[in-house]
Amino acid sequence: MNIRKKFEEIVRIYFPKWKNWRSWKVRRTTEGSECKESSKTIVFNRNELEKDAVDVDLLFIHEITHAVTQDGHNQKFLNRLKKAKTTASQLHRSELENLIEKEIEMVSKIEKWPDYLKDTIRDIVTIDNPDISWKELVEASLSTP
Ligand SMILES: [Zn+2]
Repeated sequence: MNIRKKFEEIVRIYFPKWKNWRSWKVRRTTEGSECKESSKTIVFNRNELEKDAVDVDLLFIHEITHAVTQDGHNQKFLNRLKKAKTTASQLHRSELENLIEKEIEMVSKIEKWPDYLKDTIRDIVTIDNPDISWKELVEASLSTP
């Protein structure tokens, strides 16, 4: 798959008002998919790119939403995902629409957990992976096949 082409296609359809997309880079990684705001780079896990087309579209929409809204899974992020869901609905892409809806539910549920719970989970997980951030952790849990 040409990930640059896919990136531009998703931007054109779901983020038509986003002006800064040209300054963003995309690349493949063996690590988790992630939007790196400081270097304006979105990395996509190689295995996730091999999934069904609709899952790949969801992956791109999720990461581009980070690039557009910044600062993790906040309300702005969720609102922008809802917009993408509306676009999917208008295009009669009901499978993608349903996947985005599930993603919104998952993300908002996880982010509503109290801090002590997030800290506890991070403490357990980071024994093997001390530098992982909460955002990366959520990202990893969402992309589990
Ligand atoms: Zn995310």
